[in-house]
Amino acid sequence: MSTCYIALGSNLEDPLAQANRAIAALKQLPNTTVLDISPFYRSKPLGPQDQNDYLNAVIKLTTNLSPIVLLDELQTIEKAQGRVRKDNRWGARTLDLDILLYDDLVIQSERLTIPHYHMKNREFVLYPLFDIAPNLILPDNDKLKDLVAKCPKNDLKMWNI
Ligand code: ATP
Ligand code: CA
Ligand code: CA
Repeated sequence: MSTCYIALGSNLEDPLAQANRAIAALKQLPNTTVLDISPFYRSKPLGPQDQNDYLNAVIKLTTNLSPIVLLDELQTIEKAQGRVRKDNRWGARTLDLDILLYDDLVIQSERLTIPHYHMKNREFVLYPLFDIAPNLILPDNDKLKDLVAKCPKNDLKMWNI
C-alpha cells in the first residue's frame, strides 16, 4: 500500500457539492482507502481574476494503484464532474484533482510530476496539507512545517467564513 496526498480544487457549479461528490468517488476507487480529509478552504484564483473563489482541500489516501493509474482515475472523476480541459491553464473548473505526493517517490514524466511542481509555494495546498499531516517530510527532506512557516497565507480563509 502506498500513501498519497491529493489536492482538490473547485470554483464552478457549487464547489461544496463538487468536493463532496469527488470525495465520494475517491472512496469508491478500487484498492484505495480514504484516510483523512482536510478542512475546506477558500482562496482567490491564480491567473485570470475574473472567476469565482476556489474551494481547496487535501485528501490522504492509501492505494495499490500505480501513480499513472491513479492519475487516470483522478482524470476520470474530473471528467465525470464536467471538467472541460481547455488550453487556458488556471481557468475556472468544476473539479481539479492533483497528486501532491506518492510515498517518497520522485517522478518526472510527460504526464506526471511528483511531488506536484508548485506545492511548495501554494498556500492553498500547504495549509490544508499541514492540517492533516503536520509532521510530514518531503522526499527532498524539507519539513512541511518549515514550508508553511515561510508561505504567506494571502487571502486563504476557511470555506464557510
Ligand atoms: P497546475 O498543474 O498548475 O495545478 P492545472 O491543475 O490546472 O494546473 P491541469 O490542466 O489540471 O493543470 O493538468 C495538466 C496536466 O498536468 C495533466 O494532464 C497531467 O498529465 C499533468 N500533471 C503532471 N503532474 C501531475 C500531478 N502530480 N497531478 C496531476 N496532474 C499532473
Ligand atoms: Ca492544479
Ligand atoms: Ca490538475
